[in-house]
Amino acid sequence: MKLPIVAYGDPVLRKVCVDIEETYPDLQQLISNMFDTMYAASGVGLAAPQIGLPIRMFIVDTGADEDEKKGYKKVFINAEILEETGEPWAFNEGCLSIPDIREDVMRKPNIRIKYLDENWVEHEDEVTGMPARVIQHEYDHIEGKLFTDKLSILRKTMLKSKLDSISKGNVRTDYKMRFPKQNKKR
Ligand code: ZN
Repeated sequence: MKLPIVAYGDPVLRKVCVDIEETYPDLQQLISNMFDTMYAASGVGLAAPQIGLPIRMFIVDTGADEDEKKGYKKVFINAEILEETGEPWAFNEGCLSIPDIREDVMRKPNIRIKYLDENWVEHEDEVTGMPARVIQHEYDHIEGKLFTDKLSILRKTMLKSKLDSISKGNVRTDYKMRFPKQNKKR
């Protein structure tokens, strides 16, 4: 089942999310709904706050592409990035909660991350390249951060009115969204 994606400006995107227990209600259904939502929006990652839940869970599926050969698909629960290393590199990032904005973001290429998978098995993985990039973006979401926070003051100033109009719902997407400033009026 597809869920609406929370737009920029909603306070849930600014929450430092909390760990969940294995008994979290309907967890498998929630994970399945998150994948449905992400694929319908052609995303490569989706974090729980983006569907309105301030919990430490995100999903990644980089899909199959020429460089990776096979897709990197995983569920991350109660994740903790232990280490980020290497020379920062730029990549033009976007976000399903911030449609129509793409900006170069610098991130370190290698990470070490501890997490539980959807079967509640604990892992500690070293990840590099594009999958690491997507994990870092989604991990920021569960820390209440957005990629636009990482931009220069100049870029932020230039994007301010565009971001404001997204939060008011003045943006077109081919997936369903929930806009904070529209909700308040109802
Ligand atoms: Zn995002």
